[in-house]
Amino acid sequence: MKIVETISAIREEVRKLKAEGRSIGLVPTMGFLHEGHLSLIEAARAKHDVVVVSIFVNPLQFGPNEDFERYPRDLDRDERLARNSGVDILFCPPVEEMYPGETAMTIHVTKGVDVLCGASRPGHFDGVATVVMKLFQLTAPDEAFFGQKDAQQVAVIINMVRTFNVPVNIVSCPTVREEDGLAKSSRNVYLTEQERQEASFLYQALRKAAERAQAGEHDRERLLQYLTGLLEGGSGTIDYVEALSYPALERQEKLGGRIILAVAYHYTKARLIDNIIIELDREEA
Ligand code: AMP
Repeated sequence: MKIVETISAIREEVRKLKAEGRSIGLVPTMGFLHEGHLSLIEAARAKHDVVVVSIFVNPLQFGPNEDFERYPRDLDRDERLARNSGVDILFCPPVEEMYPGETAMTIHVTKGVDVLCGASRPGHFDGVATVVMKLFQLTAPDEAFFGQKDAQQVAVIINMVRTFNVPVNIVSCPTVREEDGLAKSSRNVYLTEQERQEASFLYQALRKAAERAQAGEHDRERLLQYLTGLLEGGSGTIDYVEALSYPALERQEKLGGRIILAVAYHYTKARLIDNIIIELDREEA
């Protein structure tokens, strides 16, 4: 596995691979790798000659009061995991390499960000889109692999490649969970023991709400009330619960078609997100 830290070096690697006609699968991450990331690497490996994994905690996507400084980092461990997973190139640039000097330009996302994490984290998806565009420019992948856990992110990135005609296919992979259902996340290490025990109730609640919707409850308001009720006994606080069309992320009072049920929940030191995507029959008007 090659470890690459500079823009000139990654460009040179990519140039050689292209000259050899090899296909590239990219897995962008912020590191502190877990099985969710590894599942994306596996999916990329199954389809491409070369797998590039980027590890970059992107300051641009963190708000002023968010956890950029204390986001978990362990590059030695990540290197080991990446090597054992058959990654070919690990691209882990320092911040100054990706953002030298003052930021003069960013991508501004204008659709699908007035809801969910876009509403809770103003500017977050501008930062995500900007760094992912840079990573696409640097690694010129045939495909890039993202997790459905960050469903709004997938929707934003699909929109971005369409808008800017970026020749990269976006692959969305299923959410990998702990045995009790909690979605794997680098931020789970922030949970206290008691919070960790409780946290799987987010997924259980989403599943119950999904079942209720599939059993015929298509009224958005009532379904969200039910979901909120399931979460109210928890020791943290609800950031949002939402039910929207997917991937358009539009509100419908009567739910129908492909729907995302999503939740964001604050514990003492971690904000967790999770979602389920379901298909509902469309009711006759
Ligand atoms: P992150 O390092 O958290 O920015 O995540 C990097 C990529 O891994 C993103 O595309 C995430 O959606 C994906 N990812 C994170 N957690 C999971 C999970 N539990 N299952 C599947 N993919 C995940």
